Amino acid sequence: MKVLVLGSGVIGVTTAYFLHKDGHDVTVIDRQSSAGQETSFANGGQISASQAMSWASPETPQLMLKWLGRNDAPLLYRMRLDPKLWVWSLRFLANCNPKNFTLNTAKNLRLALYSRTLLPEIRQNTGIEYDFLNKGIIQVCREEKDFQAYAKQACVLKDLGCENKILTAKQIFEIEPAFSASPDKIIGGIYTPDDESGDAQKFTAGLAEYLFNLGVNFRYNETVEKINIKNNRVTSVQTNKELVNSDAIIVSLASYSPILLKPLGINIPIQPAKGYSVTVPTTGYNAAPTVSITDADHKIVFSRLGERLRIAGTVEFTGYNTDINHERVRSILNIAEHIFPAAGDYSRAEFWTGLRPLTPDGAPIIGKTRYENLYLNTGHGSLGWTMCAGSGKIISDLINNRSSSINVSDIGLNRF
Ligand SMILES: Cc1cc2nc3c(=O)[nH]c(=O)nc-3n(C[C@H](O)[C@H](O)[C@H](O)COP(=O)(O)OP(=O)(O)OC[C@H]3O[C@@H](n4cnc5c(N)ncnc54)[C@H](O)[C@@H]3O)c2cc1C
Repeated sequence: MKVLVLGSGVIGVTTAYFLHKDGHDVTVIDRQSSAGQETSFANGGQISASQAMSWASPETPQLMLKWLGRNDAPLLYRMRLDPKLWVWSLRFLANCNPKNFTLNTAKNLRLALYSRTLLPEIRQNTGIEYDFLNKGIIQVCREEKDFQAYAKQACVLKDLGCENKILTAKQIFEIEPAFSASPDKIIGGIYTPDDESGDAQKFTAGLAEYLFNLGVNFRYNETVEKINIKNNRVTSVQTNKELVNSDAIIVSLASYSPILLKPLGINIPIQPAKGYSVTVPTTGYNAAPTVSITDADHKIVFSRLGERLRIAGTVEFTGYNTDINHERVRSILNIAEHIFPAAGDYSRAEFWTGLRPLTPDGAPIIGKTRYENLYLNTGHGSLGWTMCAGSGKIISDLINNRSSSINVSDIGLNRF
C-alpha cells in the first residue's frame, strides 16, 4: 500500500520504520530540509517511563497560581485572546483530579513501557548511533515533603509495572558520583534503572537515512497545505509543490496537526507548550553526570549525550512563537552551573526552544479518524521520544488490521 507520513520528527520517522518493515511503499513529507529539525531537535534526551505522570495533576493548578507572573517560573501561562487556548485550559483543569490523573498516567506509562521494549529492536536492526545510554534515570529531591510525594508516586508507577528503587543521598552518589562534587544538598531520590537516554535528533536523522537507503521516499523542503478527501477517504495532499496521492495518510505534525485537520472537520485539542534546552560541551571536563537526571525541584532534566550535557525544561503557553526568551533559558543555565559547576564549558552553551504538542489529559492521540484511511499519531507532549517506537508500531498494526500488543482503546481521538 502507498502510505504517506506527514512530518519527519521522531514520531513520523519511527512510524515510517514500522510501515516500511511491514512492506508498505512509504513516503515522508516535511517542510524542513532534513529529519528531526523541530520539536525532536534538542529535547531532554530521556526515554523515561519514570516521567509518565500526566502534567494535568491535582497539584498543577496550585503551582500555576504560585508561579503566575514570574518570568523565570518553570511554568509560564500568559492569558491571550485565544478561545482555543481557553477551551483547552478548561479541559486541562478538568483532568487535574486524582481519578483522571491516575487514569492518564496509567495510559502514558503503558505506552512508555511498550515503547521501551521496542527501541532495542530498532537499534539492533538499524545499527544507528545516537549517544544512547542505558544507565537509568535518577529523580533527585532536596525537600523532605517532595521526597515523600515522589516516593509515593514511584510506588504507584511500580505497581503499574515500572520498576524503580527509592534511594538515600549516599546511594545516589554511588550511582552518579558527579553529585558528590555538587554544592547542592540532595536528601534522596528515585532510581528507574531500565530508563534510557539518547539524542532524539541523531536517532531521527539516523533512522531517516537508514530508511532512505532502503527506498523510503523523503520529500524535504515541502509544506503540506491541504489534505484532500473523496467519499469519506483521503486521497492525496496538496503541498506547496504538487499533489501527492496516497492510499493512507498518517498525521505526525505535532503542534501543527490541528491546523491541517480542522478543514476536514477534525478538531484535535493540542496546544504548543514551549520548552527550552541548553547544550554544554563537556570535552576536557570530567565532572558531568552520565546517568540521566530529573531534578524535581527545579523541574529540569539532565542527559549526557556523548561529549555534551543537555539540560532541558520549563513550559510556556505562548502560542506558536518560537523566539528564545533569554531570561528563561539563562535561568536553566544558572541552575545547571550551580548544581554541576565543573560539568562543561558553560560559556559555550547552545540554546534551543521547541513546542511540545500537548493534549489536555497529557496523553497522545494515536489511532483512526472518521475517514477510514486517515490516521493520527500526534500530541505526545513531553514524552514523544519516550513513546516513539510504541506509537509507530501501533499505527502500523492498525493499518495492517492487526491487533496491538497493548490496550489502545483509550488513546484515540474518540476520548475527547
Ligand atoms: C524542552 C523539551 C524537552 C523535552 N524532553 C523530552 C524528553 O526528555 N523525553 C521525551 O520523551 N520527550 C521530550 N520532549 C518531547 C518530545 O521532544 C516531543 O514529544 C517529540 O519531539 C514530538 O515529536 P514529533 O515527531 O511529534 O514532532 P516534531 O519533531 O516537531 O515533528 C513534526 C514535524 O512536522 C513538520 N511539519 C509541521 N507542519 C508541517 C507542514 N504543514 N508541512 C510539512 N511538514 C510540517 C515539522 O517540520 C516537523 O519536522 C521534550 C520537548 C521539549 C520542547
